[in-house]
Amino acid sequence: MTTRGVVYASPEEAPAVEELTVDAPGPREVLVRVLACGLCHSDLHVVETKGFGTRFPILLGHEGAGVVEEVGSEVTSVKPGDRVVVAWRAPCGDCPQCRRGDPRRCSSQLRAKRRLHRAADGALLTPVLRCGTFAEQAVIHETCAVKVPEELPVEQAALLACGFSTGAGAALWTTPVREGSSVGVIGCGGVGLAVVQGARLAGAERIVVVDVAADKLEHAVALGATDVVDASDGDPVEAVRQLTGGGVEFSFSAIGAPIGLEQAIRMCTYAGTATLVGMPKPGAKLDIDLFVDLFSPRPTIAVTHGGDTIPQEDFPFLAQAALDGRIDLARFVTSTISLDEVPERLPRIGEGGEIRTVALL
Ligand SMILES: [Zn+2]
Ligand SMILES: [Zn+2]
Repeated sequence: MTTRGVVYASPEEAPAVEELTVDAPGPREVLVRVLACGLCHSDLHVVETKGFGTRFPILLGHEGAGVVEEVGSEVTSVKPGDRVVVAWRAPCGDCPQCRRGDPRRCSSQLRAKRRLHRAADGALLTPVLRCGTFAEQAVIHETCAVKVPEELPVEQAALLACGFSTGAGAALWTTPVREGSSVGVIGCGGVGLAVVQGARLAGAERIVVVDVAADKLEHAVALGATDVVDASDGDPVEAVRQLTGGGVEFSFSAIGAPIGLEQAIRMCTYAGTATLVGMPKPGAKLDIDLFVDLFSPRPTIAVTHGGDTIPQEDFPFLAQAALDGRIDLARFVTSTISLDEVPERLPRIGEGGEIRTVALL
């Protein structure tokens, strides 16, 4: 079978759309016809870091949704025709974290064998995060194919695969926000805005957002923020402390830069929790006063990986919340493009007021 996808062939070459061939799915594997895939920063990160340790040639894309086209042997949970979100997390059930009953922190994800090749030379492709969904077809492990209702528009369903679940999951599952509590969110890109949605779904009473971009702060208010702080206008930590009478109970840094986590720690009230959501660059260091910022106010510091989701439970939950109007996925999709436009648009993620750009395949 032949198909098309965005290939990052070698560190020196720019990603480009190519013809591909697809092997049949093996045991417990599912062939998905991809219909939509969001442009997420992790794909750009792979290109910017010359592969991020991934074996070349690489097949990009990891925020996809589509329809099951074919199933391999021993597949019982989905059948051809099912609408699915492609999860890059699939708790293995067998690592130390899963064995102690903590699959949200699974350290070894289930995966399909690599099944896609470059048509030109037959080279086996490595899909980003086991997905490779900037391609018309993907072969994934059965556990990564998560059924969601067809009524949810597919470009919205795709966002459940990564960006939205990462932000919302940080506030729902990594650091469960309590009903009636106060929350601070630093950075209102797509992931930060999803933290706002997660905190609102959890019933937070105050949600204070911090950013320097007026359009992002506007989106945040539309998505549930109760207070905004323009970080270019003085010390945001002081502003959050004043607004909340001494600090928030839960803070989230949705930017990778150290200043985000430093501010998140300092804006907590006594014994609050600061959660790192955005991916930092290797070598980034915190500038924290151990006595003033840690020992005295004794915050907990948490880290999320992809919202620590259990996709088979959490994606259907979020899909239903979207259908019920309790979260607003539609607002996150600010533009749709074709597969052919992906290589050119990938380096410009988040520019020009975009929250999420989604490729329709
Ligand atoms: Zn992602
Ligand atoms: Zn595991």
